[in-house]
Amino acid sequence: ATEVRLAKRPHGLPAHTDFSIVDTDVPSPAAGQLLVRNEFISVDPYMRGRMSEAKSYAEPYELGKAMYGGAAGEVIESTVDGFAPGDKVVHQLGWRTHAVVDAKHVAKVDAELAPLSSYLGVLGMTGLTAWVGLHEIAHFSPDDTVFVSGAAGAVGTVAGQLAKLKGAKRVIGSAGSAEKVRFLTEDLGFDAAFNYKDGPVAAQLAEAAPDGIDVYFDNVGGEHLEAAIEAANVHARFAVCGMISTYNDTQAVPGPRNLMKIVGKRLHIQGFLVSDHGAKQPEFVAEVAPLVTGGQLKYSETVVDGIRNAPQAFIDLLGGANTGKMLVRV
Ligand code: NDP
Repeated sequence: ATEVRLAKRPHGLPAHTDFSIVDTDVPSPAAGQLLVRNEFISVDPYMRGRMSEAKSYAEPYELGKAMYGGAAGEVIESTVDGFAPGDKVVHQLGWRTHAVVDAKHVAKVDAELAPLSSYLGVLGMTGLTAWVGLHEIAHFSPDDTVFVSGAAGAVGTVAGQLAKLKGAKRVIGSAGSAEKVRFLTEDLGFDAAFNYKDGPVAAQLAEAAPDGIDVYFDNVGGEHLEAAIEAANVHARFAVCGMISTYNDTQAVPGPRNLMKIVGKRLHIQGFLVSDHGAKQPEFVAEVAPLVTGGQLKYSETVVDGIRNAPQAFIDLLGGANTGKMLVRV
């Protein structure tokens, strides 16, 4: 077996030397546990927070220990009724080839319905995040104009398409390359998209949303958030999902300069954590799985091969190398 450990706490953008890759014995399951051979592991932006010591909503990873996070694989050995070798499952002991995991922390998935990898993305945590943000937090209603930042990523692709499928007046996305902009408008049906690296976000958003925005799904923070406040219509709702533009900052940077507009525009700005909304998973899957299998909701995955390349996959995720969900095939 092989696992990826946190060797050093990254300063700024993580480097290879912050990780160590260690071969270990294949562990054995005790009573109540399963041995799972991981097939896919998820690398996610929130893990950057766990690599830091600073207290946040996610516990820091321990130095010298294997990291963890979403994983999907096959049960190899089971000591538990209801789980048998061959079952496909998702669980939270990623960053390793083999996991011994308590059965109560494992969910069976139907790999006939959709590919196993999709349960880490469009039908998993990131898809649920998009659905929760749009419905429970932004209270999306048809005829809203919706702006999604980080739009070509795992959460953003689902958030924008769901808004469009449910009758949004206009869906606008921002992303970091011309190819991603093309993907959003030509493949995913966004009404407009722009490359935030091409010029000031506020000017590009004003052009893409001449009548303003009613919902902002924020994955990026920083300049994007300031631009969204500027473009917001009265009573607009902001679902604040993440602020990836700040994750590698080594010191606090000034926030939006236009916060006073929150008052005049009477904005609703709400942060959320998908982990508080796990109870919505069945409703989400019931609604979104048919859209995925029916082809109305498209999803993309960027798959990197080999557990030894997991640190690079994570570094590349922060750099924008992915379109849709970034995964490592073990
Ligand atoms: P993505 O698939 O969107 O991957 C991250 C993307 O961020 C990259 O592809 C890159 O795309 C973009 N990015 C990186 N640096 C910057 C920058 N400086 N400015 C703008 N964009 C940048 O990841 P996820 O879909 O998994 O996550 C998206 C967001 O949602 C993150 O902020 C994450 O923390 C948050 N999140 C929050 C959850 C919650 O419960 N609140 C749960 C899951 C995710 P590009 O090429 O466009 O720059």
